[in-house]
Amino acid sequence: MSGKTFYIETFGCQMNVHDSEKVIGTLMAHGYSQVEAPEAAGLVLYNTCSIRDKAEQKVFNRLQNFKRQAGNGKIFGVLGCVAQQEGEKIFDRAPHVSLVAGSASYTRLGEMLVELEAGNRRVTGLSLDTDQTFETPLTRRDNPHRAYITIIEGCDKSCAYCVVPFTRGPERSRASESVMAEARGLAESGYTEIQLLGQNVNSYRDPSPAGQDFAALLARVAEVPGIRRVRYTTSHPRDYGKNIVDAMDANPVLCDHVHLPVQSGSTRMLAAMDRLYTRDDYMRRIEWLKTARRAYSITTDIIVGFPGETEADFQKTLDLLDEVEYASLFSFKYSPRPNTAALHLPDPVPEEEKQRRLVIVQERQRAIQIRRNAELIGAIREVLVEGRHEALGQWIGRTSDNRTLNFTHSAGDGHALAGRYLPVRVTRSGPNSLVGESVTVV
Ligand code: SAM
Ligand code: SF4
Repeated sequence: MSGKTFYIETFGCQMNVHDSEKVIGTLMAHGYSQVEAPEAAGLVLYNTCSIRDKAEQKVFNRLQNFKRQAGNGKIFGVLGCVAQQEGEKIFDRAPHVSLVAGSASYTRLGEMLVELEAGNRRVTGLSLDTDQTFETPLTRRDNPHRAYITIIEGCDKSCAYCVVPFTRGPERSRASESVMAEARGLAESGYTEIQLLGQNVNSYRDPSPAGQDFAALLARVAEVPGIRRVRYTTSHPRDYGKNIVDAMDANPVLCDHVHLPVQSGSTRMLAAMDRLYTRDDYMRRIEWLKTARRAYSITTDIIVGFPGETEADFQKTLDLLDEVEYASLFSFKYSPRPNTAALHLPDPVPEEEKQRRLVIVQERQRAIQIRRNAELIGAIREVLVEGRHEALGQWIGRTSDNRTLNFTHSAGDGHALAGRYLPVRVTRSGPNSLVGESVTVV
């Protein structure tokens, strides 16, 4: 292998982004150095996503593009959800690939590297049979202020459309002491914001005798000295207890934002999706958040065109958007996925109809965001400064409720703001972000 260099490209969700950070840490601990272009690397890795068909296609396109280079002694590896889903079939479809490993096998990554270095060209890590989480002493983090911490891996739900239980395996919670040690270590090295990650963080249950639940863990992480913001994603409405809202109310370090994926406003569709809650159950959680001590921004995920979704079901989703008034949302056309229960459901919604519904959802939500963001003009919000947008002459800020609030700053040193927390007055609004000016007097 030439000079132990690697290139890694990551597709998909925050879980994948953070897995890549841990994979990078493991590679570096094995003497590899990271390069920015695949052409310059001895080992080329793709950490893949298979949540929707499009995501999966991207991976195979990428592999195809670099096929020619396989002859130059380059080694290719496919990691993540496509690896787990397609398994050894990848070797047939892309014979220049030498490593295929799903996330549940990353605990064995060191051994897999040794096999590759020994010349094995069919190295696999595909077992889901693990009760371990992927812990590495060295994680190479991308953002200097905000750090991800995995608290739970895999998923034990079986939503009818979703590949995650097949690609990430069964749920495994990490010991709370290990989570706390990582949080303290991050605070000591200067991080001020922590985001707790998992496919369903609400079902977290400390495997050690303390047996803490998610709300208790959240409260403890928020107490770590030096940590000013704690976020978490993703929640599942079925497991989202009132004690989580109470924990947030009790400590403003827990950010003013909750991502609570609903998928559909129709109870009939929720049952077909096997989501384990009704629209009323979901709205009860929204009520807890809306009547809480602080104002929380709420965001969600929507799927349109699930098999059997009628116009009446779809209207119920639109009504729900009006009722909740989300701060933002991710919307997707239903994409049939291998192994999932929905694959065998009757009444597929035609592609053009899915597209039509997607556009309607996005337009309806855009109008809500324009109206809601305009209401913030004149308000003062604290932002964490994430960087600088030179072309616009603005600093990039993020509010506790997870809005982008870019701002100008006339006073003091204009070049050392990244990582600081500043009050900013909102002066303008758009559908997706706010603009303002710093009110700091230096
Ligand atoms: N664990 C999270 C949850 O329960 O909501 C998120 C899982 S997934 C990475 C993120 C989102 O992708 C889901 O909330 C859902 O809206 C969407 N999604 C998952 N499978 C899909 C499919 N087959 N077709 C379209 N959208 C899908
Ligand atoms: Fe997929 Fe449902 Fe698990 Fe979320 S809760 S990862 S949507 S199976």
